[in-house]
Amino acid sequence: MPKTLLIGSNNPGKARELAELLEGLPWEVKSLRDFPPAPEPEESGTTFEENALLKARYFCERYQVAVVADDSGLEVDALNGAPGVYSARYAGEPADHAKNNEKLLDALAETPWHERTARFVCCAVFLAPDTEPHIEYGTVEGHIAMECFGGQGFGYDPLFVPEGHDRTFGEMENAEKHRMSHRGRALQKIRAYLKAQA
Ligand code: IMP
Repeated sequence: MPKTLLIGSNNPGKARELAELLEGLPWEVKSLRDFPPAPEPEESGTTFEENALLKARYFCERYQVAVVADDSGLEVDALNGAPGVYSARYAGEPADHAKNNEKLLDALAETPWHERTARFVCCAVFLAPDTEPHIEYGTVEGHIAMECFGGQGFGYDPLFVPEGHDRTFGEMENAEKHRMSHRGRALQKIRAYLKAQA
């Protein structure tokens, strides 16, 4: 019987992506909806890694099951790396993707295209009960568009134009985004690790 692998995220856009990126492994991938409800873990860390570890540990201990969790965000150079680890809550709580995008566009209103460089960062953690966590990173460089384009993906996707492309993640099919995204890259490494364990 395949072992259970829980996706430790309540963010629907992210949980869907993680499920797609973990397809085809000899694990039965489950979401938090398959487990009794629990309060959200508090993301009190100041780095992607601290927050990813905190989420993985929380769900792994609570449900005694192997977990993949990630913490991710957008670093904008003209804003000294903001919103960074605070990407989900950039425009305040509760997290609202449309308000975050609006706030980002306002913050960059005077910033020309060549200075709108940014990157998405993902720290992904695999943690099984009573073992040490396995940590991987993925990043993708790009620019912040002058307005939102496309309705695919989630979060800042309609504003992020990856390097070497002239469309935002919001204008790309999931599979195309996964091939170059921060989460796609981190999860390729997690997949390789899991395959080597099998
Ligand atoms: P957290 O990792 O759950 O704290 O939230 C990450 C936040 O970063 C999301 O809510 C989005 O605002 C942003 N983010 C991370 N990855 C992506 C992505 O692939 N596309 C768009 N926004 C993202």
